[in-house]
Amino acid sequence: MKLFNTYIFLIILSTCSTEELRASDNLSVNTKGGVYIHKIKKSDLNSNILLNNQQLLTIEYKNNFFLLYGIPYNSPLGKNDLKIRINNDISHLKFNVQDRNFDTQYINVSSKYINPGIDSQKRISLERKNLIEAKDIWYNRSPDLKFIIPANGIITGKFGTKRFYNGKEGNFHNGLDVAAERGSPIISPSRGKVILTGNYYYNGKFIILDHGKGLKSIFIHLDEILVKKGEIISKGDLIGKIGNTGKSSGPHLHWSLMLNKTYIDPEYFLENRIIDYFSLKLE
Ligand SMILES: [Zn+2]
Repeated sequence: MKLFNTYIFLIILSTCSTEELRASDNLSVNTKGGVYIHKIKKSDLNSNILLNNQQLLTIEYKNNFFLLYGIPYNSPLGKNDLKIRINNDISHLKFNVQDRNFDTQYINVSSKYINPGIDSQKRISLERKNLIEAKDIWYNRSPDLKFIIPANGIITGKFGTKRFYNGKEGNFHNGLDVAAERGSPIISPSRGKVILTGNYYYNGKFIILDHGKGLKSIFIHLDEILVKKGEIISKGDLIGKIGNTGKSSGPHLHWSLMLNKTYIDPEYFLENRIIDYFSLKLE
């Protein structure tokens, strides 16, 4: 299958010009777990732009102004039309959600993560409440969208993969997994503020970093947390160490990225990809 994909990729490379590749690339960001980039007026940059009472990310790039909407994984394919509120005026975000192929993975974890006992269930619901509260936080600072990879290692899990745990279908994989030796460094992929840390049932030791305006990273299964709630972190700062805590089947970093409280693919923010998409909209 891998050979087959490589073959297809080579055919595409040999038949498209760079511009064509860029254009098709641009479409591919409008996917489940992708980002819809919408040009807005300068006067709307600091407006309250709301979708179902949820504030959306707005950003300036080269004197142009954009709104970024994290497209939920469960969005319908094809035409999407979302009603938003800019100040008190109703407006529409209209875009197409493109299909994308996701792999399937089979993973074995301790059975306590599949059927938690009564005491664990109480703990889990309390922890879930704290996580929801952290997701609700709005840190009114523009994020730096030029992300770097937070750990070096082997990519063992991609965003969107269908996951079976001990043979039973679980939630889709909502982040990127980087496997490396226990104790390997984790650095901050972009600047941010630590809004929550802890040692939770499923996450193990984790850090939530708020990059600003609804863009947040969560790093889980850590061996060690090296930052404290409230700390301001620069891009590239050491924040923790890779581990195997919580619902994990070997030492790795699981990194999720959230925008407007929805999980999006972190890989869209690496290697300036998001910035490239803005550039395409500058004409
Ligand atoms: Zn993962």
